[in-house]
Amino acid sequence: MREFLNTDIELLPSINKKKADILKKEINVFTFGDLLEYFPFRYLDKSKFTKIKEIASEENYIQVVGRVVKKELIKGKGQRLIIKLQDSTGVIDLVFFQGIKWINDSFAIGVDYVVFGKPTFFNGIFNFAHPEFETLMSYKRTSIETFFPIYHTSERMKNSFLSSKALAKLSQEVLALAVNRIEETLPQYITKHYNLYTKERALREIHFPKNEESLAKARARLKFEELFFMQLENQVKKHNNKARNKGFVFANVGENFNSFYKTYLPFTLTGAQQRVVKEIRNDMRTGYQMNRLLQGDVGSGKTLVALLCMLIAIDNGFQASIIAPTEILAQQHYNSIKNFLKDMPLNVSLLTGSSKQKERKILLNSLSEGETHILIGTHAILEDSVVFKNLGLAIIDEQHRFGVEQRAKMWAKNSIPPHVLVMTATPIPRTLAMSVYGDLECSVIDELPKGRKPIQTVHFFDKDVLTLFNFMRKQIELGRQIYVVYPLIKESEKMDLKDLMDGYESIVREFPLPKYQISIVHGQMKAEDKDYEMQRFKDGITNIMVATTVIEVGVDVPNATVMVIENAERFGLAQLHQLRGRVGRGQEQSYCILRTKDELSQEGLFRINTMCVTNNGFEIAQADLQLRGPGNIAGTQQSGVMELKIADIVLDEPLMVQVKDLATQIISYDPLLKAEENKPLRDYMVSKHKTADFSQIS
Ligand code: ADP
Ligand code: MG
Repeated sequence: MREFLNTDIELLPSINKKKADILKKEINVFTFGDLLEYFPFRYLDKSKFTKIKEIASEENYIQVVGRVVKKELIKGKGQRLIIKLQDSTGVIDLVFFQGIKWINDSFAIGVDYVVFGKPTFFNGIFNFAHPEFETLMSYKRTSIETFFPIYHTSERMKNSFLSSKALAKLSQEVLALAVNRIEETLPQYITKHYNLYTKERALREIHFPKNEESLAKARARLKFEELFFMQLENQVKKHNNKARNKGFVFANVGENFNSFYKTYLPFTLTGAQQRVVKEIRNDMRTGYQMNRLLQGDVGSGKTLVALLCMLIAIDNGFQASIIAPTEILAQQHYNSIKNFLKDMPLNVSLLTGSSKQKERKILLNSLSEGETHILIGTHAILEDSVVFKNLGLAIIDEQHRFGVEQRAKMWAKNSIPPHVLVMTATPIPRTLAMSVYGDLECSVIDELPKGRKPIQTVHFFDKDVLTLFNFMRKQIELGRQIYVVYPLIKESEKMDLKDLMDGYESIVREFPLPKYQISIVHGQMKAEDKDYEMQRFKDGITNIMVATTVIEVGVDVPNATVMVIENAERFGLAQLHQLRGRVGRGQEQSYCILRTKDELSQEGLFRINTMCVTNNGFEIAQADLQLRGPGNIAGTQQSGVMELKIADIVLDEPLMVQVKDLATQIISYDPLLKAEENKPLRDYMVSKHKTADFSQIS
């Protein structure tokens, strides 16, 4: 039966080869099924007519009813026919450039017509160019549907007689052939329990809804199906990973973990850290390979959780490793982990692209001998020459900059793949995590260490510069330190650098030597100069650090209480949140000051306001998703969210949660979908992946 939906679109009687090619190229419609899944993005409510006087925008398709009062044929170059249509409020021109003779014959003065189209604003007034039209009499006779579907079309489609209205006709044609030939993709127990339309009914109603209610039900059914299959796929992958990949059994929590925990841990874990460590520990002793995502807000203490898990690996005779996306971040992890472990007999090494040949050689040797317990580094770790004796746990920090391939490379570092923990730098909205990382288990640190005072965030315009300087002076008098950060955007690096240098100079003027010390750090400095300046700031010698976003990741200076972000309107939300996370690490009240030019776009203002009203990374991530859509959020490109046709990852969160639970439940009792009642699901998976053995999908 699937055959019907798989029929080549070219076999539709009113489609010729040329049109078929355009449908394929322009909107990826190859089959009947593709056409039926090319959903309208809007509907024209045919029961509603717009008054001519009320036409106010070019945006929407509208319907007007009126009487033809005049016909005018303008000859010569730019020949056109103008039909003047009048209703009780005014007159509008219908303009036709082609088919003039036929159209002229179709309109009769004194007769009422219904006109349908998008108004055009030309020479100061609205008109309709080539609208669709029919007499009011025939309209009343033939118009059964209230809602008429509107589809996205391209210029090329319109030029080839594949307008929105033509697409509606094609859908109608396919639906007429489709009676009892559209296979149900969901098991009956699901459609029954959730009170869903059948697939056939949903497809009919989504194109030609009878009324508001049936449209809502059609959408509900199609969204359900779309999200459900995405989650089913994730659950299948998750199950397959487990079934296929035997994992090391970390049976013990031993000497290293215990002595660190009891003796050297400088503070108590937050409840969330404890819970998450437990989740990970339980995962690592099951005999399956762990694939887990660790999410937590900036400053929630993910590094420490990573360290505790690595100690468990070491206690069980294995090595562990952290890969970070940048050298600065790798260095930072290395420093903080070295520092945590300074009194313990463990070897921690750092490997990055700039490691010297000689050190590298020694390091690789001690790594393959098993003398190195923990290796921290960048992508450099993925190279084939880096061989562990016995890698048991691989931690990937900020995975969204890593691809699937890199993950696979880490797996290959051992005959039995190591346990894998993926840590994200900033939180991801729940629905996005469920789709992008849906094949991973998920742990969330949803609590900040005690004693942190929420950072106060305020918006200053450029003109408020004196207030800003006064505030900075007061904080310095209190003994605090300050960051002043400038955006750095690759394309205009020179201009950005100039901004930075100008800013630096005005700060030096305002905060002169010898009373004040200022550091400056940017990407074009030599590494050792950068380090020198960073170190002076860390040591509290300099009061102000003027920097580009190189400091975005990895600096930890608890005495710094003020983060001034210049040109804040040019940063994205995630980056602003990351930057803000550089302060608020000590006991003192911290501040984030977002400086912008005096005129802001609406979106810019929304971002700044979001930052001012919340410190919660999850809320900020949600706002970011709303603002930019999933396509612009790192990591989503390779996931199914980009292919969603009808569900909305922001608005349909409750549904997403519901279908995820359902999919999880089904796969847990019937992982290979062998049960009779799950046959539709099995068929779907088999046809999607073109293999009967989808236990291999990963
Ligand atoms: P993240 O990587 O999640 O942004 P970090 O691991 O860098 O956060 O931790 C932020 C800071 O909080 C570090 O200085 C760390 O030592 C400290 N920290 C971590 N856990 C705790 C805790 N339970 N109590 C107090 N401070 C903590
Ligand atoms: Mg971190």
